[in-house]
Amino acid sequence: MTVTRFAPSPTGRLHVGNIRTALHNCLLARKAGGRFMLRIDDTDAARSEEQYVEAIRADLDWLGLTPDGEERQSERLALYDEAFEKLRAAGRVYRCYETAQELDLRRKVLLGRGLPPIYDRAALGLTEADHAAKAEAGVAPHWRFLIDREEAIAWDDGIRGPQKFEGDRLSDPVIRRADGSWLYMLPSAVDDIAMGVTDVLRGEDHVSNTAVQLQMFTALGATPPRFAHEALLTGNEGKLSKRLGSLGVDAFREQGLEAMAITSLLARIGTSQPVVAETSLEALADGFDLSTFGRAPARFDEGELLRLNAQIVHQMDYAEVRGLLPEGMDEAAWLAVRPNLEKASEAQEWWQVIAGDVPRPDLSDEERAFAGQAADVAETLDWGEDAWKALTAALKDATGRKGKALFLPLRLALTGMDHGPDMATLLPLIGKARAVERLRAAG
Ligand code: GLU
Repeated sequence: MTVTRFAPSPTGRLHVGNIRTALHNCLLARKAGGRFMLRIDDTDAARSEEQYVEAIRADLDWLGLTPDGEERQSERLALYDEAFEKLRAAGRVYRCYETAQELDLRRKVLLGRGLPPIYDRAALGLTEADHAAKAEAGVAPHWRFLIDREEAIAWDDGIRGPQKFEGDRLSDPVIRRADGSWLYMLPSAVDDIAMGVTDVLRGEDHVSNTAVQLQMFTALGATPPRFAHEALLTGNEGKLSKRLGSLGVDAFREQGLEAMAITSLLARIGTSQPVVAETSLEALADGFDLSTFGRAPARFDEGELLRLNAQIVHQMDYAEVRGLLPEGMDEAAWLAVRPNLEKASEAQEWWQVIAGDVPRPDLSDEERAFAGQAADVAETLDWGEDAWKALTAALKDATGRKGKALFLPLRLALTGMDHGPDMATLLPLIGKARAVERLRAAG
């Protein structure tokens, strides 16, 4: 059974980049009939906040990406201790004491010589007496994972294809701080094993972590999951602007965007498949295919998001939007204005045009006279479904006006606007009394 996971750190709100990762993991699991898990990576107690855990859950729900289960790293510390002891017994972790400044200096020296800035393993040379002296002085060690430099590191990446790493190009990562707290690397591998994760799908910024974590899986006696790393997200300008990069569900909601517009876009950008406005995650899951993902960055275009949103709104049933519509706005009115909306919330403005007060248009004297004439004609009309046809036909005969000269002053007088939904559908909704009154007022 396919098991995927989305593993955010609750140090802030989700933004487009991690919404995309969550979505892809959800789609991968749904397509395979598997499970999509949420894992809260909250080992960094100082930076993790409960409000963000709650926001992450709420955001996923709003997007329709409700997970099939949830784990929290802060509740799984015993598992990490156990794995750590296992690695320690096998000689795969070791004690270090370098300060951040020392390490920084050494990195700079290496970089200056054109060498990869990897840890020199100086602490491996410490004797038990050295460690005892540190303990005596009250200095606790931090711990590094010992990479096996003999072991070939290779995997067939679901997106990038065959990957190969030389162990001696990798730095032994610090996995545990001197205060006993955990860094990301080991807990993630331990959880992927314990949670039965079969597919790790994440950003390409994690590629070198995967090289290290593969050795952790093996050292812990587990079969590694499949890995796939997707190209990062960029904005239109070639990089993700600060504003775009921090766009989150709350901003999308405030803008009145539909979750399916966001997921439709994020599901397909960066792939060879066209971006299509889908109305269900099932449809997105059906087409989800890692082999269509490219290596080039995925471009997130807000204009495209708006276009998708409009397409989705144009397909929305009355039942779906009813709760969002103004009091009194019925199905006929929704269907009449729907093709003119980019966002469902704009229905409000059109309802005002149908049932509220409209501004008096700025008409020429001639047009005002015409509006007055139109009011007289409208009053005598048999007001049915084709009121617009009847009104315009009668006025055409009476005045010789046609085309724009006929239609535009009427639209202006009847709606206060020079554009909008088809007048033939709008006029019966406006109704005879209001129509006559508006034409009169414009005249
Ligand atoms: N908490 C990690 C992150 O947000 C998870 C990475 C992963 O998917 O393994 O970068």
